[in-house]
Amino acid sequence: MKHIDEYRDPALARALIEKIKKLAFRTSRTITIMEVCGSHTQAIGRYGIRKLLPENVRLISGPGCPVCVTAISDVDRAIWFASQKNVIFTTFGDMMRVPGTEGASLQKLRAEGSDIRVVSSTLDCLNIANDNSGKEVIFMGIGFETTSPTVASMIIRAKDKGIRNLSVMSVHKIIPPAMMALAKDPALNIDGFMCPGHVSMVLGAEAYRFIAESGRPAVITGFEPVDILEGVLLILEQITENRPDVTIQYKRGINPEGNHKAREFIDAVFETGDSEWRGLGIISASGLFIKNSLRSFDTLSRFDIPAIRSQEIKGCSCGDILKGIKTPDECPLFAKTCTPVNPLGPCMVSAEGTCSSYYKYH
Ligand code: SF4
Repeated sequence: MKHIDEYRDPALARALIEKIKKLAFRTSRTITIMEVCGSHTQAIGRYGIRKLLPENVRLISGPGCPVCVTAISDVDRAIWFASQKNVIFTTFGDMMRVPGTEGASLQKLRAEGSDIRVVSSTLDCLNIANDNSGKEVIFMGIGFETTSPTVASMIIRAKDKGIRNLSVMSVHKIIPPAMMALAKDPALNIDGFMCPGHVSMVLGAEAYRFIAESGRPAVITGFEPVDILEGVLLILEQITENRPDVTIQYKRGINPEGNHKAREFIDAVFETGDSEWRGLGIISASGLFIKNSLRSFDTLSRFDIPAIRSQEIKGCSCGDILKGIKTPDECPLFAKTCTPVNPLGPCMVSAEGTCSSYYKYH
């Protein structure tokens, strides 16, 4: 297939659904497949994929949305940094509305007069720092292996250009340790993973070998309906034939080796450390922190931050949703007091959030 329309072809989709049904019929148990990418969550909702699958094939959403997995303690810290005098706080748009303790948010703080700016690229941050040499410019770095290389490149450029007033609050995370934690959780019973397309462009296929070694298929899948159905089929084939492996369905987007250059940028600037994920707790070596040699660009090193007592949002089930334990409609607040216009939890903020996707498409 060469053109995008072919990945939306109803005849191809129907043929894949028939094959999925035949394989699912051969097993009496329920097969649980987790997608670990916010774009997959969105696409599965938009194309109504869940309703097309047999009853015993269950797709559950995992921690694929960067703002959703950002711990409330990090949201509270960001709000503290943004409230400091002489600071320009910069972030990508979704972070603005993510609620912290007692409903605080960057958006509310900006309305009260703090200088908080939404940027569309890290180049914007360099320009803001350049134009405001008397101010401390902070960038909140969130996201996975897809965004961390550009943030690393920004830090390298700032160093080369002698920019001294720019720092990064890094809450970047890496996906494989979270998948490992989810795979090991006996309460979840995950039979296979639909691996993230974008993250895999950086990591390559072998980064998921540990999933196959744990006895589960790992299929790197694209984002169109035919991609997703083929991804499900490949996972079912491996399960029914008992040959777990790492497979690339998304061949038009993935180099099996990944992107060496992007990984070099990450390695030059960041080191891994334990990181807190909303809903998943602290996961060993799953966070990216700025190396000591570049600590002048690390917001945490530049400020004396006081202890902040964070409190999870009352009644919000995002933690269970991010582990696939609950679906959004099992949260008592879903579509009642929590909506995309008035999100009470992070999973309702971003279009990639599971609750937001459910609200829009179910
Ligand atoms: Fe949290 Fe709202 Fe989702 Fe409930 S519906 S889990 S409150 S984001």
